[in-house]
Amino acid sequence: MPGTRRADYLQAIGIDRWLPRIPVEGAASSTLESSAPAGEPTASPAPVAAEEALEARWQGLRAEVLQCTKCPLHQGRTQGVVGVGNPQADWMVIGEAPGAEEDRRGEPFVGRAGQLLDAMLRSIRLSRDSNVYIANILKSRPPGNRDPRPEEVAACLPYLMRQIELVRPKLLLALGRIAAQNLLSSDAPLARLRGRVHHFGERNTPLVVTYHPAYLLRSPADKRKAWEDLKFARSVMAGIPTDGDRS
Ligand code: SF4
Repeated sequence: MPGTRRADYLQAIGIDRWLPRIPVEGAASSTLESSAPAGEPTASPAPVAAEEALEARWQGLRAEVLQCTKCPLHQGRTQGVVGVGNPQADWMVIGEAPGAEEDRRGEPFVGRAGQLLDAMLRSIRLSRDSNVYIANILKSRPPGNRDPRPEEVAACLPYLMRQIELVRPKLLLALGRIAAQNLLSSDAPLARLRGRVHHFGERNTPLVVTYHPAYLLRSPADKRKAWEDLKFARSVMAGIPTDGDRS
């Protein structure tokens, strides 16, 4: 394995190896592109009214999720887990449901699986702090981390659809079989869903499938394949026109 590729792979799977900090794409403080040369005008901000309307829609969505009783999962949850990250990100990562730690902290993908996801994202210069939005199909934790039931997915999916509509990502990355099958209305095994571009929703948003980090913690031999998926997703994103049009 070539050195750079190996280094990327090691970093992606979270093996300790000190590397200089990599600039994160889309992070205003760390990209050359984001800094307008002195004397040149910077991009004008979106109209305040539009921003406020968007924020109001997010707040409404959050409030609905936190109060939601549309399926029995509300009975056992500590709190609803809406999402985390940049709500205007080009990348949106979608998992299955909150686990125990997520339920306790109110944030998706925390704990060991979350740390692995962060390392995977970092390997392709993404971060929940700047240029990714992360959510789950279910907003409330299934007891014992069991698989979501169809009726729970049916009740909760409209929240995710609204999140996708608000974020308007250019690319969706589905983590694991449950998320992929539900988003794609498919019962195909993960092996058949990986390695190709699917499309999701009315906007035909490109969707790429990879492993769930919790699975990768149990099956580290597949981390290599997950790394191939991430590189594939990155190549798909690179081919999407950067017209900046989110309307
Ligand atoms: S899982 Fe979704 S639909 Fe069910 S109670 Fe939680 S927020 Fe509501």
